[in-house]
Amino acid sequence: MAYPNTQLFINGKWRPAHSGKTIEVLNPATEETIGTVAHAEKSDLDEALAAAAAGFKVWRAVSAFDRCRIMRKAAAIMRERNDEIAPLLTMEQGKTLAEAKMEAMAAADVIEWFAEEAKRAYGRLIPARGPGIYQMAIKEPVGPVAAFTPWNFPINQVVRKLSAALASGCSIIVKAPEETPASPAQLIRAFADAGVPDGVINLVYGVPSEISEYLIPHPVIRKISFTGSTVVGKQLSALAGLHMKRATMELGGHAPAIVFNDADVTSAAKILSAAKYRNAGQVCISPTRMLVQDDVFREFVDKFVEGARSMNVGNGMDPNSKMGSLANPRRVTAIEGMVQDAISKGAKLETGGHRVGNKGYFYEPTVVSDVPKDARAMNEEPFGPLALISRFSTLDEVTEEANRLPFGLASYAFTSSTRTATAIGANIEAGMVSINSFGLALPEVPFGGVKDSGYGSEGGTEAMDAYFNTKFISQTGV
Ligand code: NAD
Repeated sequence: MAYPNTQLFINGKWRPAHSGKTIEVLNPATEETIGTVAHAEKSDLDEALAAAAAGFKVWRAVSAFDRCRIMRKAAAIMRERNDEIAPLLTMEQGKTLAEAKMEAMAAADVIEWFAEEAKRAYGRLIPARGPGIYQMAIKEPVGPVAAFTPWNFPINQVVRKLSAALASGCSIIVKAPEETPASPAQLIRAFADAGVPDGVINLVYGVPSEISEYLIPHPVIRKISFTGSTVVGKQLSALAGLHMKRATMELGGHAPAIVFNDADVTSAAKILSAAKYRNAGQVCISPTRMLVQDDVFREFVDKFVEGARSMNVGNGMDPNSKMGSLANPRRVTAIEGMVQDAISKGAKLETGGHRVGNKGYFYEPTVVSDVPKDARAMNEEPFGPLALISRFSTLDEVTEEANRLPFGLASYAFTSSTRTATAIGANIEAGMVSINSFGLALPEVPFGGVKDSGYGSEGGTEAMDAYFNTKFISQTGV
């Protein structure tokens, strides 16, 4: 299947950058150059800003009913084109074709859910203190949005921001990932083909810091949404604060997954190992710190290792592959470093621990146990196929360990005790807690973190609220 060169999408037109500059795109499974993406600079961004400003005026005037209709059409197009889009995602990102198909299909569900919410963006009538007075709180779209998205889920990270923005009546400039540009471009194409007016959606690529430093302070932009690392998120949220821009920050995590003595250990090991190696571990809600109570520690490690070993690693296009390559060489270097560091500090390598082959960014599904707390991997987000398994004795001890890090995105627990489940729900410092299952990230449920994992939500009605201003109108007869 041919991999396309990706262009900018500005004011309804696909076009190269004014400078003609491009950036190469690699296939991480082969390290071969497979295409290019247009590299936007200031003059391109100025056009995108003008288009987004004009597009906002047009789109906010479209009724919620019609916005919904157009968005539902985009969802239908995503489903129809799944077989064309998914291979592009695998070629540029490395994930398996099955995962790519699921990501592109799930995008349609996200679009539909937000499309329907557009029709339910109710305001309130507040009882007045006198007759003939109407006190109304209404929701208005916040304005043109600048969205910055990463390479781990190139479609999914865009679709959540894009769908919520469009449903609420905002226009948007998406700065999609340069390393994985073609699949998000296909998502944008689906919306354009569905009839979203020119200027409402604009898509750019380039040098991320140059683009964010230009767009965030720009007066046209009224809202920022970023998904990526905590380090970058803090910089962008500081810049947004300086210019009084609303912001949603979906940043890194280091999810504790707590397995108690009374858990169904077989089920916990199966669910957690599948979740851990999904997308080769490059998932912000990936379970990363497995914390297992003493009595079931060995049984859990053995069953988890079995799950890790069943992951057949290979080119994502090969239907036999259960885990593809990492998305870029930075992740391989980072994981190698964390594994070596953990072992040098006394951790036990249970399985994996090596690169696979000598071409492509493949790394074995890896498990290390009894990892000391001062190992780098126990403090930095691993963001790769590395599982850390440690033991604990008491609920108090494990609660303290779960809350030890500055992150607070996802968390997991496995127990058959209602009392323990309730304590976990109440005491874990995280934006999301999933007990006895992997139950996160559906479009209709809140998705977001606390502490250094960011703020705001990318799911549920909370995600819509992030794109609305509240306006109060008090009205009396003349
Ligand atoms: P990085 O921190 O430089 O980049 C992360 C993302 O932010 C990329 O998409 C990048 O294009 C973007 N970015 C970087 N600087 C930016 C700026 N100044 N303005 C706007 N966007 C900017 O490093 P990386 O090697 O790509 O990823 C490393 C780490 O990022 C991972 O270890 C992981 O912790 C985190 N990450 C998190 C997610 C997530 O889903 N939350 C996704 C990808 C990466």
